[in-house]
Formats: sequence, C-alpha cells, structure tokens
Amino acid sequence: MSYPNVQLYIDGKWRPASGNRTLAVINPATEEVIGQVAHASRVDLDEALAAAEKGFAAWRKVSAYERAKLMRKAADIFRSRADEVARILTMEQGKPLAEARMEVLAGADLIDWFAEEARRAYGRVIPARAEGVYQLVIKEPVGPVAAFTPWNFPINQVVRKLSAAVATGCSIIVKAPEETPASPAELIRAFADAGLPAGVANLVYGVPAEISEYLIPHPVIRKVTFTGSTPVGKQLAALAGQHMKRVTMELGGHAPAIVFDDADLDHAARTLAGAKFRNAGQVCVSPTRFLIQEKLYEPFVEKFVAAAKTVKVGNGLEEGTQMGPLAHDRRIPWVESLVADARQKGAEVLTGGERIGNKGYFYAPTVLTGVSREARMMNEEPFGPVAMIAPFRDFDEVVEEANRLPYGLAAYAFTRSAKTATAIASKVESGMMTINHLGLALPEVPFGGVKDSGYGSEGGSEAIEAYLNTKFVTQAGL
Ligand code: NAD
Repeated sequence: MSYPNVQLYIDGKWRPASGNRTLAVINPATEEVIGQVAHASRVDLDEALAAAEKGFAAWRKVSAYERAKLMRKAADIFRSRADEVARILTMEQGKPLAEARMEVLAGADLIDWFAEEARRAYGRVIPARAEGVYQLVIKEPVGPVAAFTPWNFPINQVVRKLSAAVATGCSIIVKAPEETPASPAELIRAFADAGLPAGVANLVYGVPAEISEYLIPHPVIRKVTFTGSTPVGKQLAALAGQHMKRVTMELGGHAPAIVFDDADLDHAARTLAGAKFRNAGQVCVSPTRFLIQEKLYEPFVEKFVAAAKTVKVGNGLEEGTQMGPLAHDRRIPWVESLVADARQKGAEVLTGGERIGNKGYFYAPTVLTGVSREARMMNEEPFGPVAMIAPFRDFDEVVEEANRLPYGLAAYAFTRSAKTATAIASKVESGMMTINHLGLALPEVPFGGVKDSGYGSEGGSEAIEAYLNTKFVTQAGL
C-alpha cells in the first residue's frame, strides 16, 4: 500500500475538511512529505458533534450482544489488514515494521477483549430493608466521548478509547495525531467496514488546542479522554473540570527500573535494554531512571552499554532495523537539549549522545552515568532513546529516588527475593509495577498512573467502568 491521503470520517462518510484544508505528513526516516491529512475547522467539528449525538441515541439502544458481534468483526477485518496497516504506520511514525505489525495485532486483540468484556458490564441488586423493594444498580453508557491521542502508538492509543466507547454504547469523536494520521484512520475504517452505524465513531484532525478547547466544553460531550504530556493533560483536565465532564488521563512517566544485588544480571540487562530502546524510547512506560544496587552496578552498566551499541538503527521499513527515528521534528531538539544539559551538569556519555546523520530524525541509543539529580532529564520525561544509570546502596534509598518525582506511571524491579519483590511493589508510588519481566499493557490488566501521570485506567475491567454511569433505581411494589 502506498501512503494514503487521510480524510475526516464524520457521520459515516469519509470526506475532506471544509475548505479542503490539509496538513502535510512527513516520514521521519526520510523527512519527505508522504501525504496530506485533512485539517478540520469549526464547521467540521459541529458536524462531528451532531453526528456523535445522533450516533449515541441510536447505538445505546443496540444490545451489548450485537455490539460485541460487530466489534469482533472489526477486529477480524483489522487483523486481516495487518501487513498493509503496519507499513503505513512505519512510514508515518518510524518504528520498525515488526513493531508496527505487533501494534496492529495487539489492537485487534484489544477490540476483541473490550467486545467480550462489555457483555459482562453487569449491574447488581442490593438487598433491601423492606419487603417488596428492589434496589437496582444499573450501568448506562456515559454518552458521546471526545478522545485525544498522540503519535507514539497511533493505533494503540486510539483503540483502547474507541473500543471502550463502542463496547459500552457510547459514541466518540477521536482527534487522532496529525503526525501519524493514516494508521488510526485504518483502525476506524475496520469498524466502518464491519458495519458500525453512522455517527458512532467520528475522526478528526487539526490544531489540537483548537479542537480540545471547542469539544471539551461542548454540551454534547459527556466524557474526555486524553493521552499525552502532563502539562497538556493538566490543562485539559482543568477545562473538563470546569464543565464537569468525566475524565481519563494517561500522561507522562519517568519510570524507575530497579535492579537489586540478588537479581539475575543478564536477564535484567537484556530485558531492560529491549524495553528502553523499543519505539526509540517514545513510550510513556519506558524505563528511564536505571537504579542499580552497588554490587551489580558496574557489570550492569557494561552489559547495558554493550546492548545499546548493538541496536541497529535505521529506516523501519528495512529488514533488520531494531530502532527507527524519533517520530517528528520536535523530538531531536528536545533530546539534544536534555543531553547537553546533563553533560553540562557533569554526566558522562558512555555511548550515543548525538544525532545520527542529518537526514531523518535518528538519535543514537544513549547511555549516561553520573547524571545529577538537578539535570533536567532526571526530572522531565526524556521520551527518547536515553538511559540514565545510577547506583544505590539500600532499599530505603532506592525507594526515595523512585518516588522523588511527581510522576507515577510504571516501575520495574528485578530481584530473586520474594520478600524484596513484595516490599518494592508496595513502596513505589506508581500505577503499574512489573517485576522480573515485562508484563504491562495487556488488554485484560489495568493500565494507568497516579500522581502527575494521570488518573483512570485504559485496561482491565476498570477501562470499561470509565465509560459507564452508575444509576441507582429503587422500586417498591404497589
Ligand atoms: P506536545 O505536548 O505538543 O503533544 C503531546 C500530544 O498532545 C500530541 O499528540 C498533541 O497532539 C497533543 N496535544 C498537545 N496540546 C494539546 C491540546 N491543547 N489539546 C489536545 N491535544 C493536545 O508534545 P510532543 O512533542 O508531541 O510530545 C512531547 C511530550 O508528550 C513527550 O515528552 C511526552 O511527555 C508526551 N507524550 C506522552 C505520550 C504518552 O503515551 N503518555 C505520548 C506522546 C507524547
């Protein structure tokens, strides 16, 4: 498939933006313009809102059984297109083709899981104090949703929101990423081709702030869901708060990866290096602060640096590429400024630390030691292929460092001691903790953060709950 020009999807129709406005889409590996994406204006947003209102009125009446059937069909369609969709995802985002394909297949699995789970969105009956009284707890769809998603996992970030909305009988307007618009459009197309009624899912692109400022306060919208940076999330949550909208926020992280003296060193270094350089570190749960207990510190650094040096960086479409470019032009100056700041404050760069070539947004897998706590990268989300490794003495010291930042999304730990594993899981302030393996982000497990990393979950049964209102009905016989 060559790269498609991307249209808006509103009220069951693919169409250009009013006035035919478009934005250019750039391949981050080549810096070439590969296509255009429709740029919605207020008129288009008004149509999307009207469609979402109408779509919700119709879709909420469809049984969970029928909704699930349609979703499973959409999942099958999407799965059957994995190769083509993966290609366009790599062209617009940069990640290696195999990772892109995994994202498509994981997306299809997410649709299936939400389809099944929505059929089990049970209410409950509470025993009454008086005879003949029934106290019912009923789950109802929250209503039309406004969803804002980023470019690092263009499919995955949409599919969790879209599937939860469609499964529960809501409608949705997705503002997908302008940098990587075609793969989320293919996701929506799978639902459209499976027969999703007009207005249930709508897709727009444009200027993110203009769209969020218009949609969030709009009375049609009943819920807001956002994945992106903490500063933007706080703005959007504040706006949603002013208008009393339900909110899910998946924001930034700065994950501690803690390796205790009794850990399996080879396993920890290999596993963490794989996690660090996946998607060039542009992952909200990417390990960033590598905290290694003193005895293993030097051998860990040695193994980790060796692993970083073997990562094959290149165009994601080329066979054998393990890490692609950063996803857009703003990322290179960001990572460069963090590394320059760390160096200036005394950090040592053991490998990488610079851009590769001058065509395409490639940045070398980078390992730093001796990074001051005052350095920006120890405090702000690096969101790039950069690992900071530091030694620690004991349990209390590492817990203090792990919890030092306002972030609390993911955390990693490696130890052979069940006692240490239990203790670290309970002490670290994070929404997710994965111990001795990488076990995050499956459809059936919760996915979300605490503190400045946001609130709500986009996985597990909690993810369905976020799209449902609870209504209490108490009924006495006459
Ligand atoms: P950015 O802050 O400009 O954008 C981040 C995302 O938020 C983009 O998808 C953007 O379209 C969206 N956005 C920005 N302002 C918005 C607004 N007012 N209303 C609605 N959406 C808005 O910066 P960026 O360079 O694209 O990304 C930088 C930072 O964003 C990263 O360092 C990282 O912290 C964060 N980020 C987090 C995730 C995640 O998975 N949690 C994904 C992508 C980016």
